[in-house]
Amino acid sequence: MTADRADLVAEAIRTGTLAGLPGGHFIDGRFVESASGRRMESFDPGRGKAFATVAAGDGQDIDRAVAAARAALSGPWSRLSPAARGDILMRASRLIAERAARFAVVETLDSGKRLAEAEGDVGGVVKAFAYYAGAADKLQGDSMPVGPDHIGLTIEEPVGVAAQIVPWNYPLSTAARGIAPALAAGCTLVVKPAEQTPFTTLMLAELLHEAGLPAGVLNVVAGTGAEAGAALVAHPGIDHITFTGSVATGQRVMRAAAEHVTRLVLELGGKSPLVVLADCDLDAAVAGIMEAIFENAGQICSAGSRLIVEEAIAEPLLERLVAGAQALRPGHGLGDAGIGPINSPAQLARVAAHVDRARAAGNRILTGGAVVPPEDCGGGWFYQPTIVLAAGPDDPLVQEEIFGPVLTVQVMPDFEAAVVAANATSYALVAGIYTRDHAKAWRFARAVDAGQVYINEFFAGGIAMPFGGNRKSGFGRAKGMAGLRSYCKLKSVVARI
Ligand code: NAD
Repeated sequence: MTADRADLVAEAIRTGTLAGLPGGHFIDGRFVESASGRRMESFDPGRGKAFATVAAGDGQDIDRAVAAARAALSGPWSRLSPAARGDILMRASRLIAERAARFAVVETLDSGKRLAEAEGDVGGVVKAFAYYAGAADKLQGDSMPVGPDHIGLTIEEPVGVAAQIVPWNYPLSTAARGIAPALAAGCTLVVKPAEQTPFTTLMLAELLHEAGLPAGVLNVVAGTGAEAGAALVAHPGIDHITFTGSVATGQRVMRAAAEHVTRLVLELGGKSPLVVLADCDLDAAVAGIMEAIFENAGQICSAGSRLIVEEAIAEPLLERLVAGAQALRPGHGLGDAGIGPINSPAQLARVAAHVDRARAAGNRILTGGAVVPPEDCGGGWFYQPTIVLAAGPDDPLVQEEIFGPVLTVQVMPDFEAAVVAANATSYALVAGIYTRDHAKAWRFARAVDAGQVYINEFFAGGIAMPFGGNRKSGFGRAKGMAGLRSYCKLKSVVARI
């Protein structure tokens, strides 16, 4: 452990918080209090205790932030070359890397996730800023063959003011994968982090300002979805919305966007299938499934939450998964736990209700299935790593997202039946397969409806791979060059010569 990291962890464990956390909204280049003067508490899920307060925003703060972002659209930012925008993003990438330990410890305190996972997230954010720094001056249009008397070409222009609504499970990474491409494209932004996890986004805004971003280009308003989020997505001064969160809220956001015909990217939930065939490398499959469902205590939109296993290998696979789940010790993210807490009491209650209902309906719990007290921190919100054998294909356990450490298992006679089962929910975010038969793997990749498909390594990829869903998992793409184009509007220009 570096001294910096060790000191921060020691301070957080000793005091239950960290000195110097941002406390206000970040609007027009500085931290400000809410117009109403109200503040709200933020909780450490590992202890179940409030560790800091932050400004609680509403429509008045959103108005201020949108006004700042609109003004900044025609300010010094609009006169920077794409390469100069890239330079700012590259400086930001380096600064985030320098302060990675602080970002990670704050993320663990606020979201609950294990420190190693938070460090992985911060590493991904460093790469995201570097990727879009390099992409800023590579956004180019095309020229079209419109005949000898004309020249036709396309220009990629920034969409304008981009709004981001961010959930609590990957606070910094989700914010960054929207902020970095939007800035590379030349947009300005208003970001509303989840009320449970505002701090790392506020820290990122301050850091970007330090890296050279002009005032007003990136604004962050903390607050609840009902007060700040709803005001932001209904605001006539925004040109684009990226919403990441639940299906129900996404539907509300879509209705609000319709009012002003605001462009929209929706990144919603999933019930993603992970198919394991009898010929797979069993060690790799076990490791992949454990990560796919127990990383971040299963609070991942793209979790591999539905194991579809070929009958011939079901018994040895499930035996190893049950042993693996039972070996994961729940505990505070700053300790050496195998699995961290659930982010809030409300989410813990939702997870428990799903499993209790499934048990009552005759689904067989193979391991876990209960709220559990942590071993090392005397409080907090924890759920046992859980594996449940599904009673049938229509059971809510198969059809509904739980967003916790709960693996649903469906046993299928063969590959063909597994493909049918993989496609049999209303979600289509990611899908995975473990097999040594590459023809089957590629047939699966073609046949499955999903925004991304993983073959023999779940969560493989990185910032270069576009990410997003189909059907109830949403539409539009983040990451990669597709993510950058989300923040552009295409203009066709034709000249008679
Ligand atoms: P949520 O929809 O309740 O909240 C997400 C965000 O929306 C928060 O910032 C919240 O304050 C805000 N919000 C709430 N009501 C709003 C409104 N009326 N108008 C505008 N904003 C509003 O979701 P959650 O329960 O906090 O997050 C978990 C969900 O997010 C899961 O369903 C998960 O699958 C999904 N998710 C999806 C992705 C993805 O990339 N597809 C990533 C992470 C999480």
